[in-house]
Amino acid sequence: MKKLNKVALLCVSTAVLAGCGAMRPASVGAEPGRVQAANGGNVIDNWQNGTGQYVWRNGTNELCWRDANWTPATAAVGCDGALVRAAAAPAPAPVARPAPPPAAAPAPAPAPAARPPAPAPQPPAATKVTYAADAFFDFDKSVLKPEGRAKLDDLVGKIQGINLEVIIAVGHTDSVGNDPYNQRLSVRRAEAVKAYLVTKGIEKNRVYTEGKGEKQPRPGNAAKRPARAGLFRSLRKGPATAGLFSFRDDRSRPQSGPAMNETLNADPAELAKFSEVAHRWWDPDSEFGPLHQINPLRLGWIDGIAGLAGKRVVDIGCGGGILSDAMARKGASVLGIDLGTKSIRVAQLHALEAGTPNVEYRETSAEALAAEQPGSFDVVTCMEMLEHVPRPESVVQACATLVKPGGWVFFSTINRNPKSFLFAIVGAEYVLNLLPRGTHEYLKFIRPSELASWCRLARLDLQRTGGMEYNPFTRRYWLSGDTGVNYLAAAQRL
Ligand code: SAH
Repeated sequence: MKKLNKVALLCVSTAVLAGCGAMRPASVGAEPGRVQAANGGNVIDNWQNGTGQYVWRNGTNELCWRDANWTPATAAVGCDGALVRAAAAPAPAPVARPAPPPAAAPAPAPAPAARPPAPAPQPPAATKVTYAADAFFDFDKSVLKPEGRAKLDDLVGKIQGINLEVIIAVGHTDSVGNDPYNQRLSVRRAEAVKAYLVTKGIEKNRVYTEGKGEKQPRPGNAAKRPARAGLFRSLRKGPATAGLFSFRDDRSRPQSGPAMNETLNADPAELAKFSEVAHRWWDPDSEFGPLHQINPLRLGWIDGIAGLAGKRVVDIGCGGGILSDAMARKGASVLGIDLGTKSIRVAQLHALEAGTPNVEYRETSAEALAAEQPGSFDVVTCMEMLEHVPRPESVVQACATLVKPGGWVFFSTINRNPKSFLFAIVGAEYVLNLLPRGTHEYLKFIRPSELASWCRLARLDLQRTGGMEYNPFTRRYWLSGDTGVNYLAAAQRL
């Protein structure tokens, strides 16, 4: 029998836009403008905004929201129930606040907090809260326990009234057991949470699930966590990026995406195809699995040619950000663009969840960005996208406009010949079921000679090409010189 996690853990993180409860400054302490913990430590168990300047309060502004680890000591100063320290530092500015009592004492019952001054209007902010999974699932199980359901009910109650954009449900397991088993268990747990939320009236397509197994442990989480106390400590010390839920309120979201008209070089049916499955971008067992598998290969190829560290990169047709994210982690400053609204949201939420530095995402087209920021990027990547647009030559031209002279443009797409029909459509979509049927249209495939001629017209010097091959028996991808099916191309701006 598989031995699995002794203490499984799920985290809950919420990213909520202003409008659900009130955001108020909790305290101004040693670090000006930031919320302080009652015990002076780094751990704060009241919900805060992403910049740590405000805590969330209830509608009457008396009570602060707490996470499951809350104690009077780790409460935010100024919040209900927070430990009041005798030797509190003198307030830097006159703030209407009751004088501290003479001795340190945890407040036995939540008491209304002193009302701080009304805040300036805040931008959308992220707030995170953590739940221990032993309240959600039994060891090695993916069926929600009654206590887990109660916590989710509580959460559903809290998000009533916000215009929910998306919830991310991320399942985790501990390190005991093998990777595939843990991966499946974590996906099942995330799916169980989703199913429950749906029964509570949350729209199905607003919930994105992700299973992290134990391969991507929670930040600061040691490989083995035998003791529960240790587990909480290490979790709380981390940057709290791993989450079970992220909420986004789309009330203030601009509704004016690029209009879909004849002048826009996009095929609405193609965009819809990706949109339908966008919630699965980061699931390596989904239809996006092949992109996850080839990602290290293409990343290495690009990095080897252009040297990504310190470079300004734009990733055209970035989807959920699989490549953008990896390039940012190599030290590039990355802008990912896509016309798929859902994909861009998923990419943004993933970056928030994973704490990826220097990556941003925008819903726009290559052509629009080229008009806005010509010659601004050291590197342009446009992977697996050209075969989905009506006029790929226009995208190639836009890539050439976006890159600085001497900079690199990378493409990957699928060749058009009988072999590619057999492998990329019959094999991948019909025999191996690697991709959903209809993912690709044969006539939209692009011969390297066609790509080369569009590059020439755009003053791009096509310098290198490489093939990407797949062995269905070993399920391995590798780079080769065979451009017969999937291929990569690197061109330098003249
Ligand atoms: N480049 C990513 C995703 C490839 S899937 C990767 O390789 O990991 C193709 C992506 O192209 C989808 O996200 C789809 O929404 C996007 N796309 C299709 N037509 C587009 C267009 N005209 N402009 C921008 N993105 C487009």
